[in-house]
Amino acid sequence: MASVELRSLTKHFDQVKAVDNVDLKISDGEFLVLLGPSGSGKTTLMRLCAGLEQPTAGRLFINGQVVNDFPPRERGIAMVFQSYALYPHKTVFKNISFPLTVEKLGKKEIKQKVEWAAGLLGIGHLLDRRPAQISGGEKQRVAIARALVRTPKVLLLDEPLSNLDAQVRQAARVELKKFHREIGVTTIYVTHDQAEAMGLGDRIAVMKSGRIRQIGTPDVIYHDPADTFVAGFIGIPPMNFVEQQDVMVGFRPEAFHPSNLAHAENRITFRFKIMRVENLGSNKLAYGTIGDAKVIANLPVRIPLEEGKEYDFSVRKSDLRYYDKDKGVRIDRARS
Ligand code: ATP
Repeated sequence: MASVELRSLTKHFDQVKAVDNVDLKISDGEFLVLLGPSGSGKTTLMRLCAGLEQPTAGRLFINGQVVNDFPPRERGIAMVFQSYALYPHKTVFKNISFPLTVEKLGKKEIKQKVEWAAGLLGIGHLLDRRPAQISGGEKQRVAIARALVRTPKVLLLDEPLSNLDAQVRQAARVELKKFHREIGVTTIYVTHDQAEAMGLGDRIAVMKSGRIRQIGTPDVIYHDPADTFVAGFIGIPPMNFVEQQDVMVGFRPEAFHPSNLAHAENRITFRFKIMRVENLGSNKLAYGTIGDAKVIANLPVRIPLEEGKEYDFSVRKSDLRYYDKDKGVRIDRARS
Protein backbone atom coordinates (compact mmCIF):
# COMPACT_ATOMS: atom_id res chain seq x y z
CA MET A 1 0.00 0.00 0.00
CA ALA A 2 1.06 3.55 -0.49
CA SER A 3 0.41 7.23 -0.10
CA VAL A 4 -0.06 9.30 -3.25
CA GLU A 5 0.71 12.98 -3.60
CA LEU A 6 0.07 15.34 -6.50
CA ARG A 7 1.94 18.64 -6.46
CA SER A 8 0.80 21.32 -8.90
CA LEU A 9 -0.08 18.55 -11.32
CA THR A 10 -1.17 19.94 -14.68
CA LYS A 11 -2.17 18.44 -18.00
CA HIS A 12 -3.04 20.56 -21.02
CA PHE A 13 -4.38 19.23 -24.31
CA ASP A 14 -3.71 22.23 -26.60
CA GLN A 15 -6.00 24.93 -25.19
CA VAL A 16 -7.85 22.61 -22.77
CA LYS A 17 -6.63 22.61 -19.18
CA ALA A 18 -7.85 19.09 -18.41
CA VAL A 19 -6.03 19.06 -15.06
CA ASP A 20 -5.08 22.47 -13.78
CA ASN A 21 -2.50 22.83 -11.01
CA VAL A 22 -3.91 20.18 -8.69
CA ASP A 23 -2.48 19.61 -5.20
CA LEU A 24 -3.74 16.50 -3.48
CA LYS A 25 -2.52 14.14 -0.75
CA ILE A 26 -4.03 10.69 -0.42
CA SER A 27 -3.10 8.71 2.66
CA ASP A 28 -2.05 5.10 2.76
CA GLY A 29 -5.19 2.95 2.68
CA GLU A 30 -7.56 5.84 2.00
CA PHE A 31 -10.58 5.56 -0.30
CA LEU A 32 -10.69 8.86 -2.16
CA VAL A 33 -13.50 9.66 -4.56
CA LEU A 34 -13.06 12.12 -7.43
CA LEU A 35 -16.47 13.55 -8.17
CA GLY A 36 -17.36 16.05 -10.86
CA PRO A 37 -19.40 16.69 -13.98
CA SER A 38 -18.45 15.36 -17.39
CA GLY A 39 -15.23 16.92 -18.69
CA SER A 40 -14.03 18.11 -15.27
CA GLY A 41 -10.74 16.20 -15.58
CA LYS A 42 -11.35 13.12 -13.41
CA THR A 43 -10.21 10.51 -15.93
CA THR A 44 -7.21 12.59 -17.01
CA LEU A 45 -6.13 12.88 -13.39
CA MET A 46 -6.36 9.09 -12.98
CA ARG A 47 -4.47 8.49 -16.21
CA LEU A 48 -1.71 10.81 -14.97
CA CYS A 49 -1.45 8.75 -11.78
CA ALA A 50 -1.35 5.51 -13.77
CA GLY A 51 1.34 6.86 -16.09
CA LEU A 52 -0.89 6.64 -19.17
CA GLU A 53 -0.49 10.41 -19.66
CA GLN A 54 2.56 12.56 -19.07
CA PRO A 55 1.91 15.76 -17.07
CA THR A 56 2.50 19.14 -18.70
CA ALA A 57 3.82 20.30 -15.31
CA GLY A 58 3.93 19.26 -11.69
CA ARG A 59 5.02 16.16 -9.83
CA LEU A 60 3.48 12.89 -8.72
CA PHE A 61 4.76 11.07 -5.63
CA ILE A 62 4.05 7.51 -4.57
CA ASN A 63 5.22 6.75 -1.04
CA GLY A 64 7.27 9.94 -1.11
CA GLN A 65 9.11 9.05 -4.32
CA VAL A 66 8.71 11.09 -7.52
CA VAL A 67 7.38 8.72 -10.19
CA ASN A 68 6.94 11.11 -13.15
CA ASP A 69 9.48 9.18 -15.18
CA PHE A 70 8.31 5.71 -14.14
CA PRO A 71 6.50 3.71 -16.82
CA PRO A 72 3.01 2.48 -15.80
CA ARG A 73 4.21 -1.04 -15.01
CA GLU A 74 6.73 0.20 -12.43
CA ARG A 75 4.34 2.41 -10.51
CA GLY A 76 2.58 -0.38 -8.62
CA ILE A 77 -0.76 1.03 -9.73
CA ALA A 78 -3.63 -0.96 -11.19
CA MET A 79 -6.51 0.70 -13.03
CA VAL A 80 -9.99 -0.66 -13.70
CA PHE A 81 -11.73 1.02 -16.60
CA GLN A 82 -15.40 1.74 -17.09
CA SER A 83 -15.52 -0.79 -19.92
CA TYR A 84 -13.75 -3.52 -17.84
CA ALA A 85 -11.81 -4.45 -21.00
CA LEU A 86 -12.11 -8.23 -20.46
CA TYR A 87 -10.92 -10.64 -23.13
CA PRO A 88 -14.11 -12.22 -24.53
CA HIS A 89 -12.48 -15.49 -25.61
CA LYS A 90 -10.64 -16.15 -22.37
CA THR A 91 -12.26 -17.72 -19.30
CA VAL A 92 -12.67 -15.71 -16.12
CA PHE A 93 -9.63 -17.54 -14.72
CA LYS A 94 -7.51 -16.61 -17.75
CA ASN A 95 -8.75 -13.03 -17.63
CA ILE A 96 -7.77 -12.66 -13.99
CA SER A 97 -4.45 -14.45 -14.40
CA PHE A 98 -3.44 -12.56 -17.53
CA PRO A 99 -1.18 -9.95 -15.84
CA LEU A 100 0.55 -12.74 -13.92
CA THR A 101 1.20 -14.79 -17.07
CA VAL A 102 2.72 -11.69 -18.64
CA GLU A 103 5.00 -11.48 -15.61
CA LYS A 104 5.85 -15.18 -16.12
CA LEU A 105 4.88 -16.36 -12.63
CA GLY A 106 4.76 -20.10 -11.90
CA LYS A 107 1.51 -22.01 -12.46
CA LYS A 108 1.02 -22.81 -8.79
CA GLU A 109 1.51 -19.21 -7.67
CA ILE A 110 -0.82 -17.97 -10.40
CA LYS A 111 -3.53 -20.39 -9.27
CA GLN A 112 -3.12 -19.33 -5.65
CA LYS A 113 -3.36 -15.63 -6.48
CA VAL A 114 -6.36 -16.02 -8.78
CA GLU A 115 -8.20 -18.08 -6.18
CA TRP A 116 -7.40 -15.54 -3.49
CA ALA A 117 -8.71 -12.59 -5.56
CA ALA A 118 -11.73 -14.50 -6.83
CA GLY A 119 -12.58 -15.59 -3.29
CA LEU A 120 -12.29 -12.04 -2.02
CA LEU A 121 -14.74 -10.83 -4.65
CA GLY A 122 -17.10 -13.82 -4.43
CA ILE A 123 -16.56 -15.05 -7.99
CA GLY A 124 -14.74 -18.30 -7.25
CA HIS A 125 -17.56 -20.32 -8.86
CA LEU A 126 -17.28 -18.44 -12.17
CA LEU A 127 -13.68 -19.18 -13.07
CA ASP A 128 -14.49 -21.48 -16.00
CA ARG A 129 -17.01 -19.17 -17.66
CA ARG A 130 -16.40 -16.62 -20.38
CA PRO A 131 -17.34 -12.91 -20.01
CA ALA A 132 -20.46 -13.39 -22.17
CA GLN A 133 -21.74 -15.93 -19.63
CA ILE A 134 -21.63 -13.66 -16.56
CA SER A 135 -23.59 -10.58 -15.46
CA GLY A 136 -22.42 -6.97 -15.57
CA GLY A 137 -21.81 -6.93 -11.81
CA GLU A 138 -19.76 -10.11 -12.08
CA LYS A 139 -17.72 -8.67 -14.96
CA GLN A 140 -16.92 -5.68 -12.81
CA ARG A 141 -15.66 -8.01 -10.07
CA VAL A 142 -13.54 -9.95 -12.56
CA ALA A 143 -11.96 -6.67 -13.67
CA ILE A 144 -11.20 -5.74 -10.07
CA ALA A 145 -9.84 -9.22 -9.33
CA ARG A 146 -7.54 -8.89 -12.36
CA ALA A 147 -6.31 -5.57 -10.98
CA LEU A 148 -5.73 -7.05 -7.52
CA VAL A 149 -3.70 -10.14 -8.42
CA ARG A 150 -0.67 -7.96 -9.02
CA THR A 151 -1.09 -6.70 -5.42
CA PRO A 152 -1.01 -3.06 -6.49
CA LYS A 153 0.02 -0.35 -4.07
CA VAL A 154 -2.73 1.85 -5.46
CA LEU A 155 -6.00 0.89 -7.12
CA LEU A 156 -7.63 3.30 -9.59
CA LEU A 157 -11.29 2.69 -10.39
CA ASP A 158 -12.81 4.75 -13.21
CA GLU A 159 -16.62 4.63 -12.96
CA PRO A 160 -16.56 0.85 -12.46
CA LEU A 161 -20.26 0.66 -11.63
CA SER A 162 -21.65 2.87 -14.37
CA ASN A 163 -22.67 -0.03 -16.63
CA LEU A 164 -24.82 -1.64 -13.95
CA ASP A 165 -28.51 -1.05 -13.33
CA ALA A 166 -29.52 0.87 -10.21
CA GLN A 167 -30.22 -2.09 -7.93
CA VAL A 168 -27.10 -4.08 -8.81
CA ARG A 169 -25.14 -0.89 -8.54
CA GLN A 170 -26.20 -0.34 -4.96
CA ALA A 171 -25.32 -3.92 -4.01
CA ALA A 172 -21.97 -3.60 -5.80
CA ARG A 173 -21.26 -0.44 -3.80
CA VAL A 174 -21.74 -2.29 -0.52
CA GLU A 175 -19.48 -5.12 -1.78
CA LEU A 176 -16.82 -2.69 -2.88
CA LYS A 177 -16.75 -0.97 0.49
CA LYS A 178 -16.53 -4.31 2.28
CA PHE A 179 -13.69 -5.50 0.08
CA HIS A 180 -11.82 -2.22 0.60
CA ARG A 181 -12.12 -2.61 4.37
CA GLU A 182 -10.68 -6.10 4.15
CA ILE A 183 -7.78 -5.37 1.87
CA GLY A 184 -7.18 -1.68 2.71
CA VAL A 185 -5.51 -0.80 -0.62
CA THR A 186 -5.19 2.93 -1.31
CA THR A 187 -7.99 3.59 -3.78
CA ILE A 188 -8.90 6.47 -6.07
CA TYR A 189 -12.40 6.15 -7.43
CA VAL A 190 -13.90 8.28 -10.19
CA THR A 191 -17.61 8.87 -10.45
CA HIS A 192 -20.14 11.52 -11.36
CA ASP A 193 -22.72 9.80 -9.15
CA GLN A 194 -22.91 11.66 -5.88
CA ALA A 195 -24.68 8.87 -3.97
CA GLU A 196 -21.75 6.63 -4.83
CA ALA A 197 -19.31 9.32 -3.73
CA MET A 198 -21.10 9.91 -0.43
CA GLY A 199 -21.42 6.18 0.29
CA LEU A 200 -17.92 5.07 -0.64
CA GLY A 201 -15.47 7.87 0.00
CA ASP A 202 -13.41 8.41 3.14
CA ARG A 203 -13.00 11.80 1.47
CA ILE A 204 -14.45 13.31 -1.68
CA ALA A 205 -12.60 15.69 -4.02
CA VAL A 206 -15.08 17.69 -6.07
CA MET A 207 -13.65 18.71 -9.46
CA LYS A 208 -14.67 21.31 -11.99
CA SER A 209 -12.77 22.52 -15.06
CA GLY A 210 -9.59 20.66 -14.11
CA ARG A 211 -9.47 22.02 -10.57
CA ILE A 212 -10.39 20.65 -7.18
CA ARG A 213 -13.06 22.92 -5.78
CA GLN A 214 -13.25 21.22 -2.39
CA ILE A 215 -11.89 18.15 -0.66
CA GLY A 216 -13.30 16.73 2.57
CA THR A 217 -15.27 13.98 4.23
CA PRO A 218 -18.74 13.33 2.79
CA ASP A 219 -20.19 15.06 5.85
CA VAL A 220 -18.16 18.24 5.33
CA ILE A 221 -18.79 18.31 1.57
CA TYR A 222 -22.54 17.96 2.15
CA HIS A 223 -23.00 20.26 5.15
CA ASP A 224 -20.23 22.78 4.56
CA PRO A 225 -19.83 23.19 0.81
CA ALA A 226 -17.04 25.65 0.07
CA ASP A 227 -18.80 27.32 -2.86
CA THR A 228 -22.09 27.45 -4.69
CA PHE A 229 -20.86 24.97 -7.32
CA VAL A 230 -20.20 22.24 -4.73
CA ALA A 231 -23.42 23.13 -2.88
CA GLY A 232 -25.40 22.82 -6.09
CA PHE A 233 -23.65 19.68 -7.28
CA ILE A 234 -24.08 17.65 -4.07
CA GLY A 235 -27.52 16.75 -2.80
CA ILE A 236 -30.65 15.61 -4.59
CA PRO A 237 -32.35 18.03 -4.75
CA PRO A 238 -29.42 20.45 -4.38
CA MET A 239 -29.00 23.32 -1.91
CA ASN A 240 -31.47 26.22 -2.21
CA PHE A 241 -30.17 29.75 -2.70
CA VAL A 242 -31.95 32.98 -1.85
CA GLU A 243 -30.35 36.39 -2.42
CA GLN A 244 -30.47 38.63 0.63
CA GLN A 245 -28.72 41.98 1.10
CA ASP A 246 -26.03 41.25 -1.48
CA VAL A 247 -25.21 37.74 -0.28
CA MET A 248 -26.44 34.33 -1.34
CA VAL A 249 -28.02 32.46 1.52
CA GLY A 250 -27.98 28.68 1.07
CA PHE A 251 -29.93 25.98 2.89
CA ARG A 252 -30.69 22.33 2.24
CA PRO A 253 -34.23 21.33 1.18
CA GLU A 254 -34.57 19.11 4.27
CA ALA A 255 -33.71 22.04 6.57
CA PHE A 256 -36.70 24.03 5.29
CA HIS A 257 -39.85 23.38 7.34
CA PRO A 258 -43.32 24.88 7.82
CA SER A 259 -42.96 27.45 10.62
CA ASN A 260 -45.95 26.14 12.56
CA LEU A 261 -44.14 22.83 13.05
CA ALA A 262 -40.90 24.30 14.38
CA HIS A 263 -39.83 26.31 17.43
CA ALA A 264 -39.45 29.92 16.35
CA GLU A 265 -36.20 30.33 18.28
CA ASN A 266 -33.02 30.85 16.25
CA ARG A 267 -34.80 30.45 12.94
CA ILE A 268 -35.43 32.76 10.06
CA THR A 269 -38.74 32.72 8.26
CA PHE A 270 -39.48 32.99 4.54
CA ARG A 271 -42.76 33.30 2.69
CA PHE A 272 -42.83 30.18 0.48
CA LYS A 273 -45.22 29.98 -2.44
CA ILE A 274 -45.78 26.37 -3.44
CA MET A 275 -46.22 25.59 -7.14
CA ARG A 276 -46.08 21.82 -7.17
CA VAL A 277 -45.94 18.96 -4.69
CA GLU A 278 -44.40 15.63 -5.62
CA ASN A 279 -45.06 12.62 -3.42
CA LEU A 280 -42.09 10.22 -3.58
CA GLY A 281 -43.45 7.62 -1.18
CA SER A 282 -40.95 8.01 1.66
CA ASN A 283 -40.93 11.82 1.47
CA LYS A 284 -42.36 14.61 -0.58
CA LEU A 285 -40.85 17.51 -2.45
CA ALA A 286 -42.53 20.91 -2.53
CA TYR A 287 -41.36 23.09 -5.43
CA GLY A 288 -41.98 26.81 -5.17
CA THR A 289 -40.52 30.28 -4.81
CA ILE A 290 -39.26 32.72 -2.21
CA GLY A 291 -39.54 36.06 -4.03
CA ASP A 292 -37.85 35.35 -7.38
CA ALA A 293 -35.78 32.42 -6.17
CA LYS A 294 -36.82 28.87 -6.99
CA VAL A 295 -36.72 26.76 -3.86
CA ILE A 296 -37.45 23.15 -2.91
CA ALA A 297 -38.54 21.73 0.44
CA ASN A 298 -37.99 18.05 1.26
CA LEU A 299 -40.64 17.03 3.81
CA PRO A 300 -42.29 14.06 5.47
CA VAL A 301 -45.29 12.83 3.45
CA ARG A 302 -47.76 13.49 6.29
CA ILE A 303 -47.34 17.30 6.19
CA PRO A 304 -50.39 18.77 4.42
CA LEU A 305 -49.56 21.30 1.69
CA GLU A 306 -51.60 22.67 -1.17
CA GLU A 307 -50.28 23.67 -4.57
CA GLY A 308 -50.80 27.39 -5.33
CA LYS A 309 -50.85 28.43 -1.64
CA GLU A 310 -48.34 30.49 0.35
CA TYR A 311 -46.95 29.36 3.70
CA ASP A 312 -44.49 30.57 6.32
CA PHE A 313 -41.47 28.28 6.19
CA SER A 314 -38.33 28.63 8.26
CA VAL A 315 -34.73 27.46 8.55
CA ARG A 316 -32.60 27.14 11.67
CA LYS A 317 -29.89 29.81 11.61
CA SER A 318 -27.25 27.13 12.13
CA ASP A 319 -28.42 25.52 8.86
CA LEU A 320 -27.84 28.66 6.80
CA ARG A 321 -24.69 29.00 4.67
CA TYR A 322 -23.56 32.34 3.23
CA TYR A 323 -21.86 32.78 -0.14
CA ASP A 324 -20.44 35.75 -2.05
CA LYS A 325 -23.07 36.72 -4.59
CA ASP A 326 -20.62 37.19 -7.47
CA LYS A 327 -17.76 34.79 -6.73
CA GLY A 328 -19.90 32.06 -5.15
CA VAL A 329 -17.35 31.38 -2.38
CA ARG A 330 -18.35 30.73 1.20
CA ILE A 331 -18.17 33.86 3.36
CA ASP A 332 -19.29 32.65 6.78
CA ARG A 333 -16.98 30.38 8.75
CA ALA A 334 -17.20 26.69 7.94
CA ARG A 335 -18.40 24.39 10.73
CA SER A 336 -15.18 22.39 10.78
P1 ATP B 1 -16.28 12.18 -18.00
O1 ATP B 1 -17.02 12.16 -16.67
O2 ATP B 1 -17.15 12.61 -19.13
O3 ATP B 1 -15.50 10.92 -18.25
P2 ATP B 1 -13.91 13.56 -17.00
O4 ATP B 1 -14.20 14.41 -15.81
O5 ATP B 1 -13.28 12.25 -16.76
O6 ATP B 1 -15.23 13.40 -17.89
P3 ATP B 1 -11.69 14.04 -18.79
O7 ATP B 1 -11.98 12.85 -19.64
O8 ATP B 1 -10.53 13.97 -17.88
O9 ATP B 1 -13.00 14.45 -17.94
O10 ATP B 1 -11.53 15.30 -19.75
C1 ATP B 1 -11.18 16.59 -19.28
C2 ATP B 1 -11.07 17.54 -20.46
O11 ATP B 1 -9.94 17.19 -21.24
C3 ATP B 1 -12.26 17.52 -21.39
O12 ATP B 1 -12.48 18.83 -21.84
C4 ATP B 1 -11.80 16.61 -22.52
O13 ATP B 1 -12.45 16.94 -23.73
C5 ATP B 1 -10.31 16.92 -22.58
N1 ATP B 1 -9.54 15.75 -23.04
C6 ATP B 1 -9.41 14.57 -22.41
N2 ATP B 1 -8.57 13.75 -23.08
C7 ATP B 1 -8.17 14.43 -24.18
C8 ATP B 1 -7.29 14.12 -25.29
N3 ATP B 1 -6.66 12.95 -25.36
N4 ATP B 1 -7.11 15.08 -26.22
C9 ATP B 1 -7.73 16.28 -26.12
N5 ATP B 1 -8.54 16.63 -25.11
C10 ATP B 1 -8.78 15.73 -24.16
